[in-house]
Amino acid sequence: MESKHFGTRAIHGGQQHDPSTGAVMPPIYQTSTYAQSSPGEHKGYEYSRTQNPTRSALEASLASIENGSHAMGFGSGLAAVDACMKLLSPGDEVISTNDLYGGTYRQFVHIYEKYGIKFHFVPMSDESVIESKVNSRTKMIWIESPTNPMLNVVDIEKVSKIALSAKALLVVDNTFATPYLQQPIKLGADIVLHSGTKYLGGHSDLVLGALIVSDKDLADRLYFIQNSTGAVCGPMDSFLALRGIKTLHIRMERHCYNAKEIAHFLKSHPAVGRVVYPGFTEHPGHLVAKKQMRDFGGMISFTVKSDLAEDASKVVSSMKIFTLAESLGGVESLSGHPASMTHASIPKDQREANGITDGLIRLSVGIEDIRDLKADIEAALLLIL
Ligand SMILES: *Cc1c(COP(=O)(O)O)cnc(C)c1O
Repeated sequence: MESKHFGTRAIHGGQQHDPSTGAVMPPIYQTSTYAQSSPGEHKGYEYSRTQNPTRSALEASLASIENGSHAMGFGSGLAAVDACMKLLSPGDEVISTNDLYGGTYRQFVHIYEKYGIKFHFVPMSDESVIESKVNSRTKMIWIESPTNPMLNVVDIEKVSKIALSAKALLVVDNTFATPYLQQPIKLGADIVLHSGTKYLGGHSDLVLGALIVSDKDLADRLYFIQNSTGAVCGPMDSFLALRGIKTLHIRMERHCYNAKEIAHFLKSHPAVGRVVYPGFTEHPGHLVAKKQMRDFGGMISFTVKSDLAEDASKVVSSMKIFTLAESLGGVESLSGHPASMTHASIPKDQREANGITDGLIRLSVGIEDIRDLKADIEAALLLIL
């Protein structure tokens, strides 16, 4: 059953009841191998690195919600990034957003530069800067939108035109927006990447990655890489991610609502400096976000007025509902201090040039009662007034 409406696809997209028992949810097929009736005679499953029915169910769901034809599940978001990089050869060049998830940056620079891949990190709010880096060796353009943690917005459709004329693959890391808010394949992306660890799983109980494509040849190349290098997700995590996806649309609605409330609350608070939230009309990416997203997401970044690490640390350490932790996208609210946590691997000068100052706090706004979330932040900000 395929419906065009997201909420139905999130629950039913690509799914069928288990053929052997009618189980409504796919069983956790905790098996490495499958019986063959005679050599090479099997039911489509030979060995669980290559295919596993629980993973297949997740992959079918992912393809459906991202408007792709094929999807692949990986052991983590970074394993999915790694599979994309293996499409490249020494001498190839990648143009990437400069405001990149720290782990992706680390993989690009500390793993793949060594293998002769060249990366250009550029601000992507101005497409002419991307165009200026295109040459005959450009094979991939890498976008995050909104970015982490500065919530810069990239016009995916415009960049897809640059990628098309450069004959480069456009990869969009859609972790922050989720397919509920933004559907990059419709905007011209070749590959959509997810850290399923975040909103797709949604309950901070798994680590998983995914790639979704809409082209058979590209899918075949990525399947070959997935099977040859083996960084697949296991059946238990596939099951959990699939269960998470079934409530994605409902959770995202509440994440967006709560984030909007908190962004306005922070903006009017005297202990707060900058508030970065794409839903504000003064946010430089607001109009593009409005065009390509259904709502503005559940992430907010802000600085304490002094912009000192000490004050930021006091705030994140004293909040009680917002848990100080890496990661994002779960039902529970989390806070983070990018300069010392998620973005510590990015050199300080480069970090600050991108706005990630010592006083910056990142919030992943959960789906708790908004009144309690506001009270929690208010009590913490009082300490630095
Ligand atoms: C977390 C994250 C990743 C990496 O995913 P893991 O599942 O932690 O390996 C990649 N991109 C973004 C935007 C992320 O937030």
